[in-house]
Amino acid sequence: MKIIRYITGIFKGIWTLLVGLKVTGSYFFRPWKIVTQQYPENRKKKGKHKLEMFDRFKGEVTMLHNENNQHKCTGCGICEINCPNGTIEVITRMVVNEEGKKKREIDKHIYHLGMCSFCALCVKTCPSQALAFSREFEHAVFDRAKLNKVLNKEGSSLMKGVE
Ligand code: SF4
Ligand code: SF4
Repeated sequence: MKIIRYITGIFKGIWTLLVGLKVTGSYFFRPWKIVTQQYPENRKKKGKHKLEMFDRFKGEVTMLHNENNQHKCTGCGICEINCPNGTIEVITRMVVNEEGKKKREIDKHIYHLGMCSFCALCVKTCPSQALAFSREFEHAVFDRAKLNKVLNKEGSSLMKGVE
């Protein structure tokens, strides 16, 4: 009896091993189905094996600018108020517009990436949809100061029609 149990145990072991290798084996014979990405080797690759980030990925908060270097940020400060971590600082200045009226505009929209928890409250609550997440994920730096970013580009201005 013992010998039968022993032999049965060996066959069971082989069977469970084959079951475990089923997925591995299927990818071995169908390599085009593999979803795992080889990072960082795939950084520069093109085509099927190039580095791919999904649209829903939250890399870092950015300010959208159009081809004329215009953004939609009015400097209202709602993103700053809603950010739970104090990650955003909106610095504004008063300017006189073409009609001679005083108007507020952003001087610097500062984003401290090192403090961001990627909750997206700033992006969702911005009344002008001025902010968005980029797919950038390589944030390693030697100097933490590099994680403090000014989101409005140099020389940029408010898009016409945005109040
Ligand atoms: S990014 Fe949006 S919420 Fe923040 S200050 Fe600019 S307009 Fe206001
Ligand atoms: S994603 Fe969240 S934590 Fe990051 S800046 Fe926006 S509101 Fe603040």
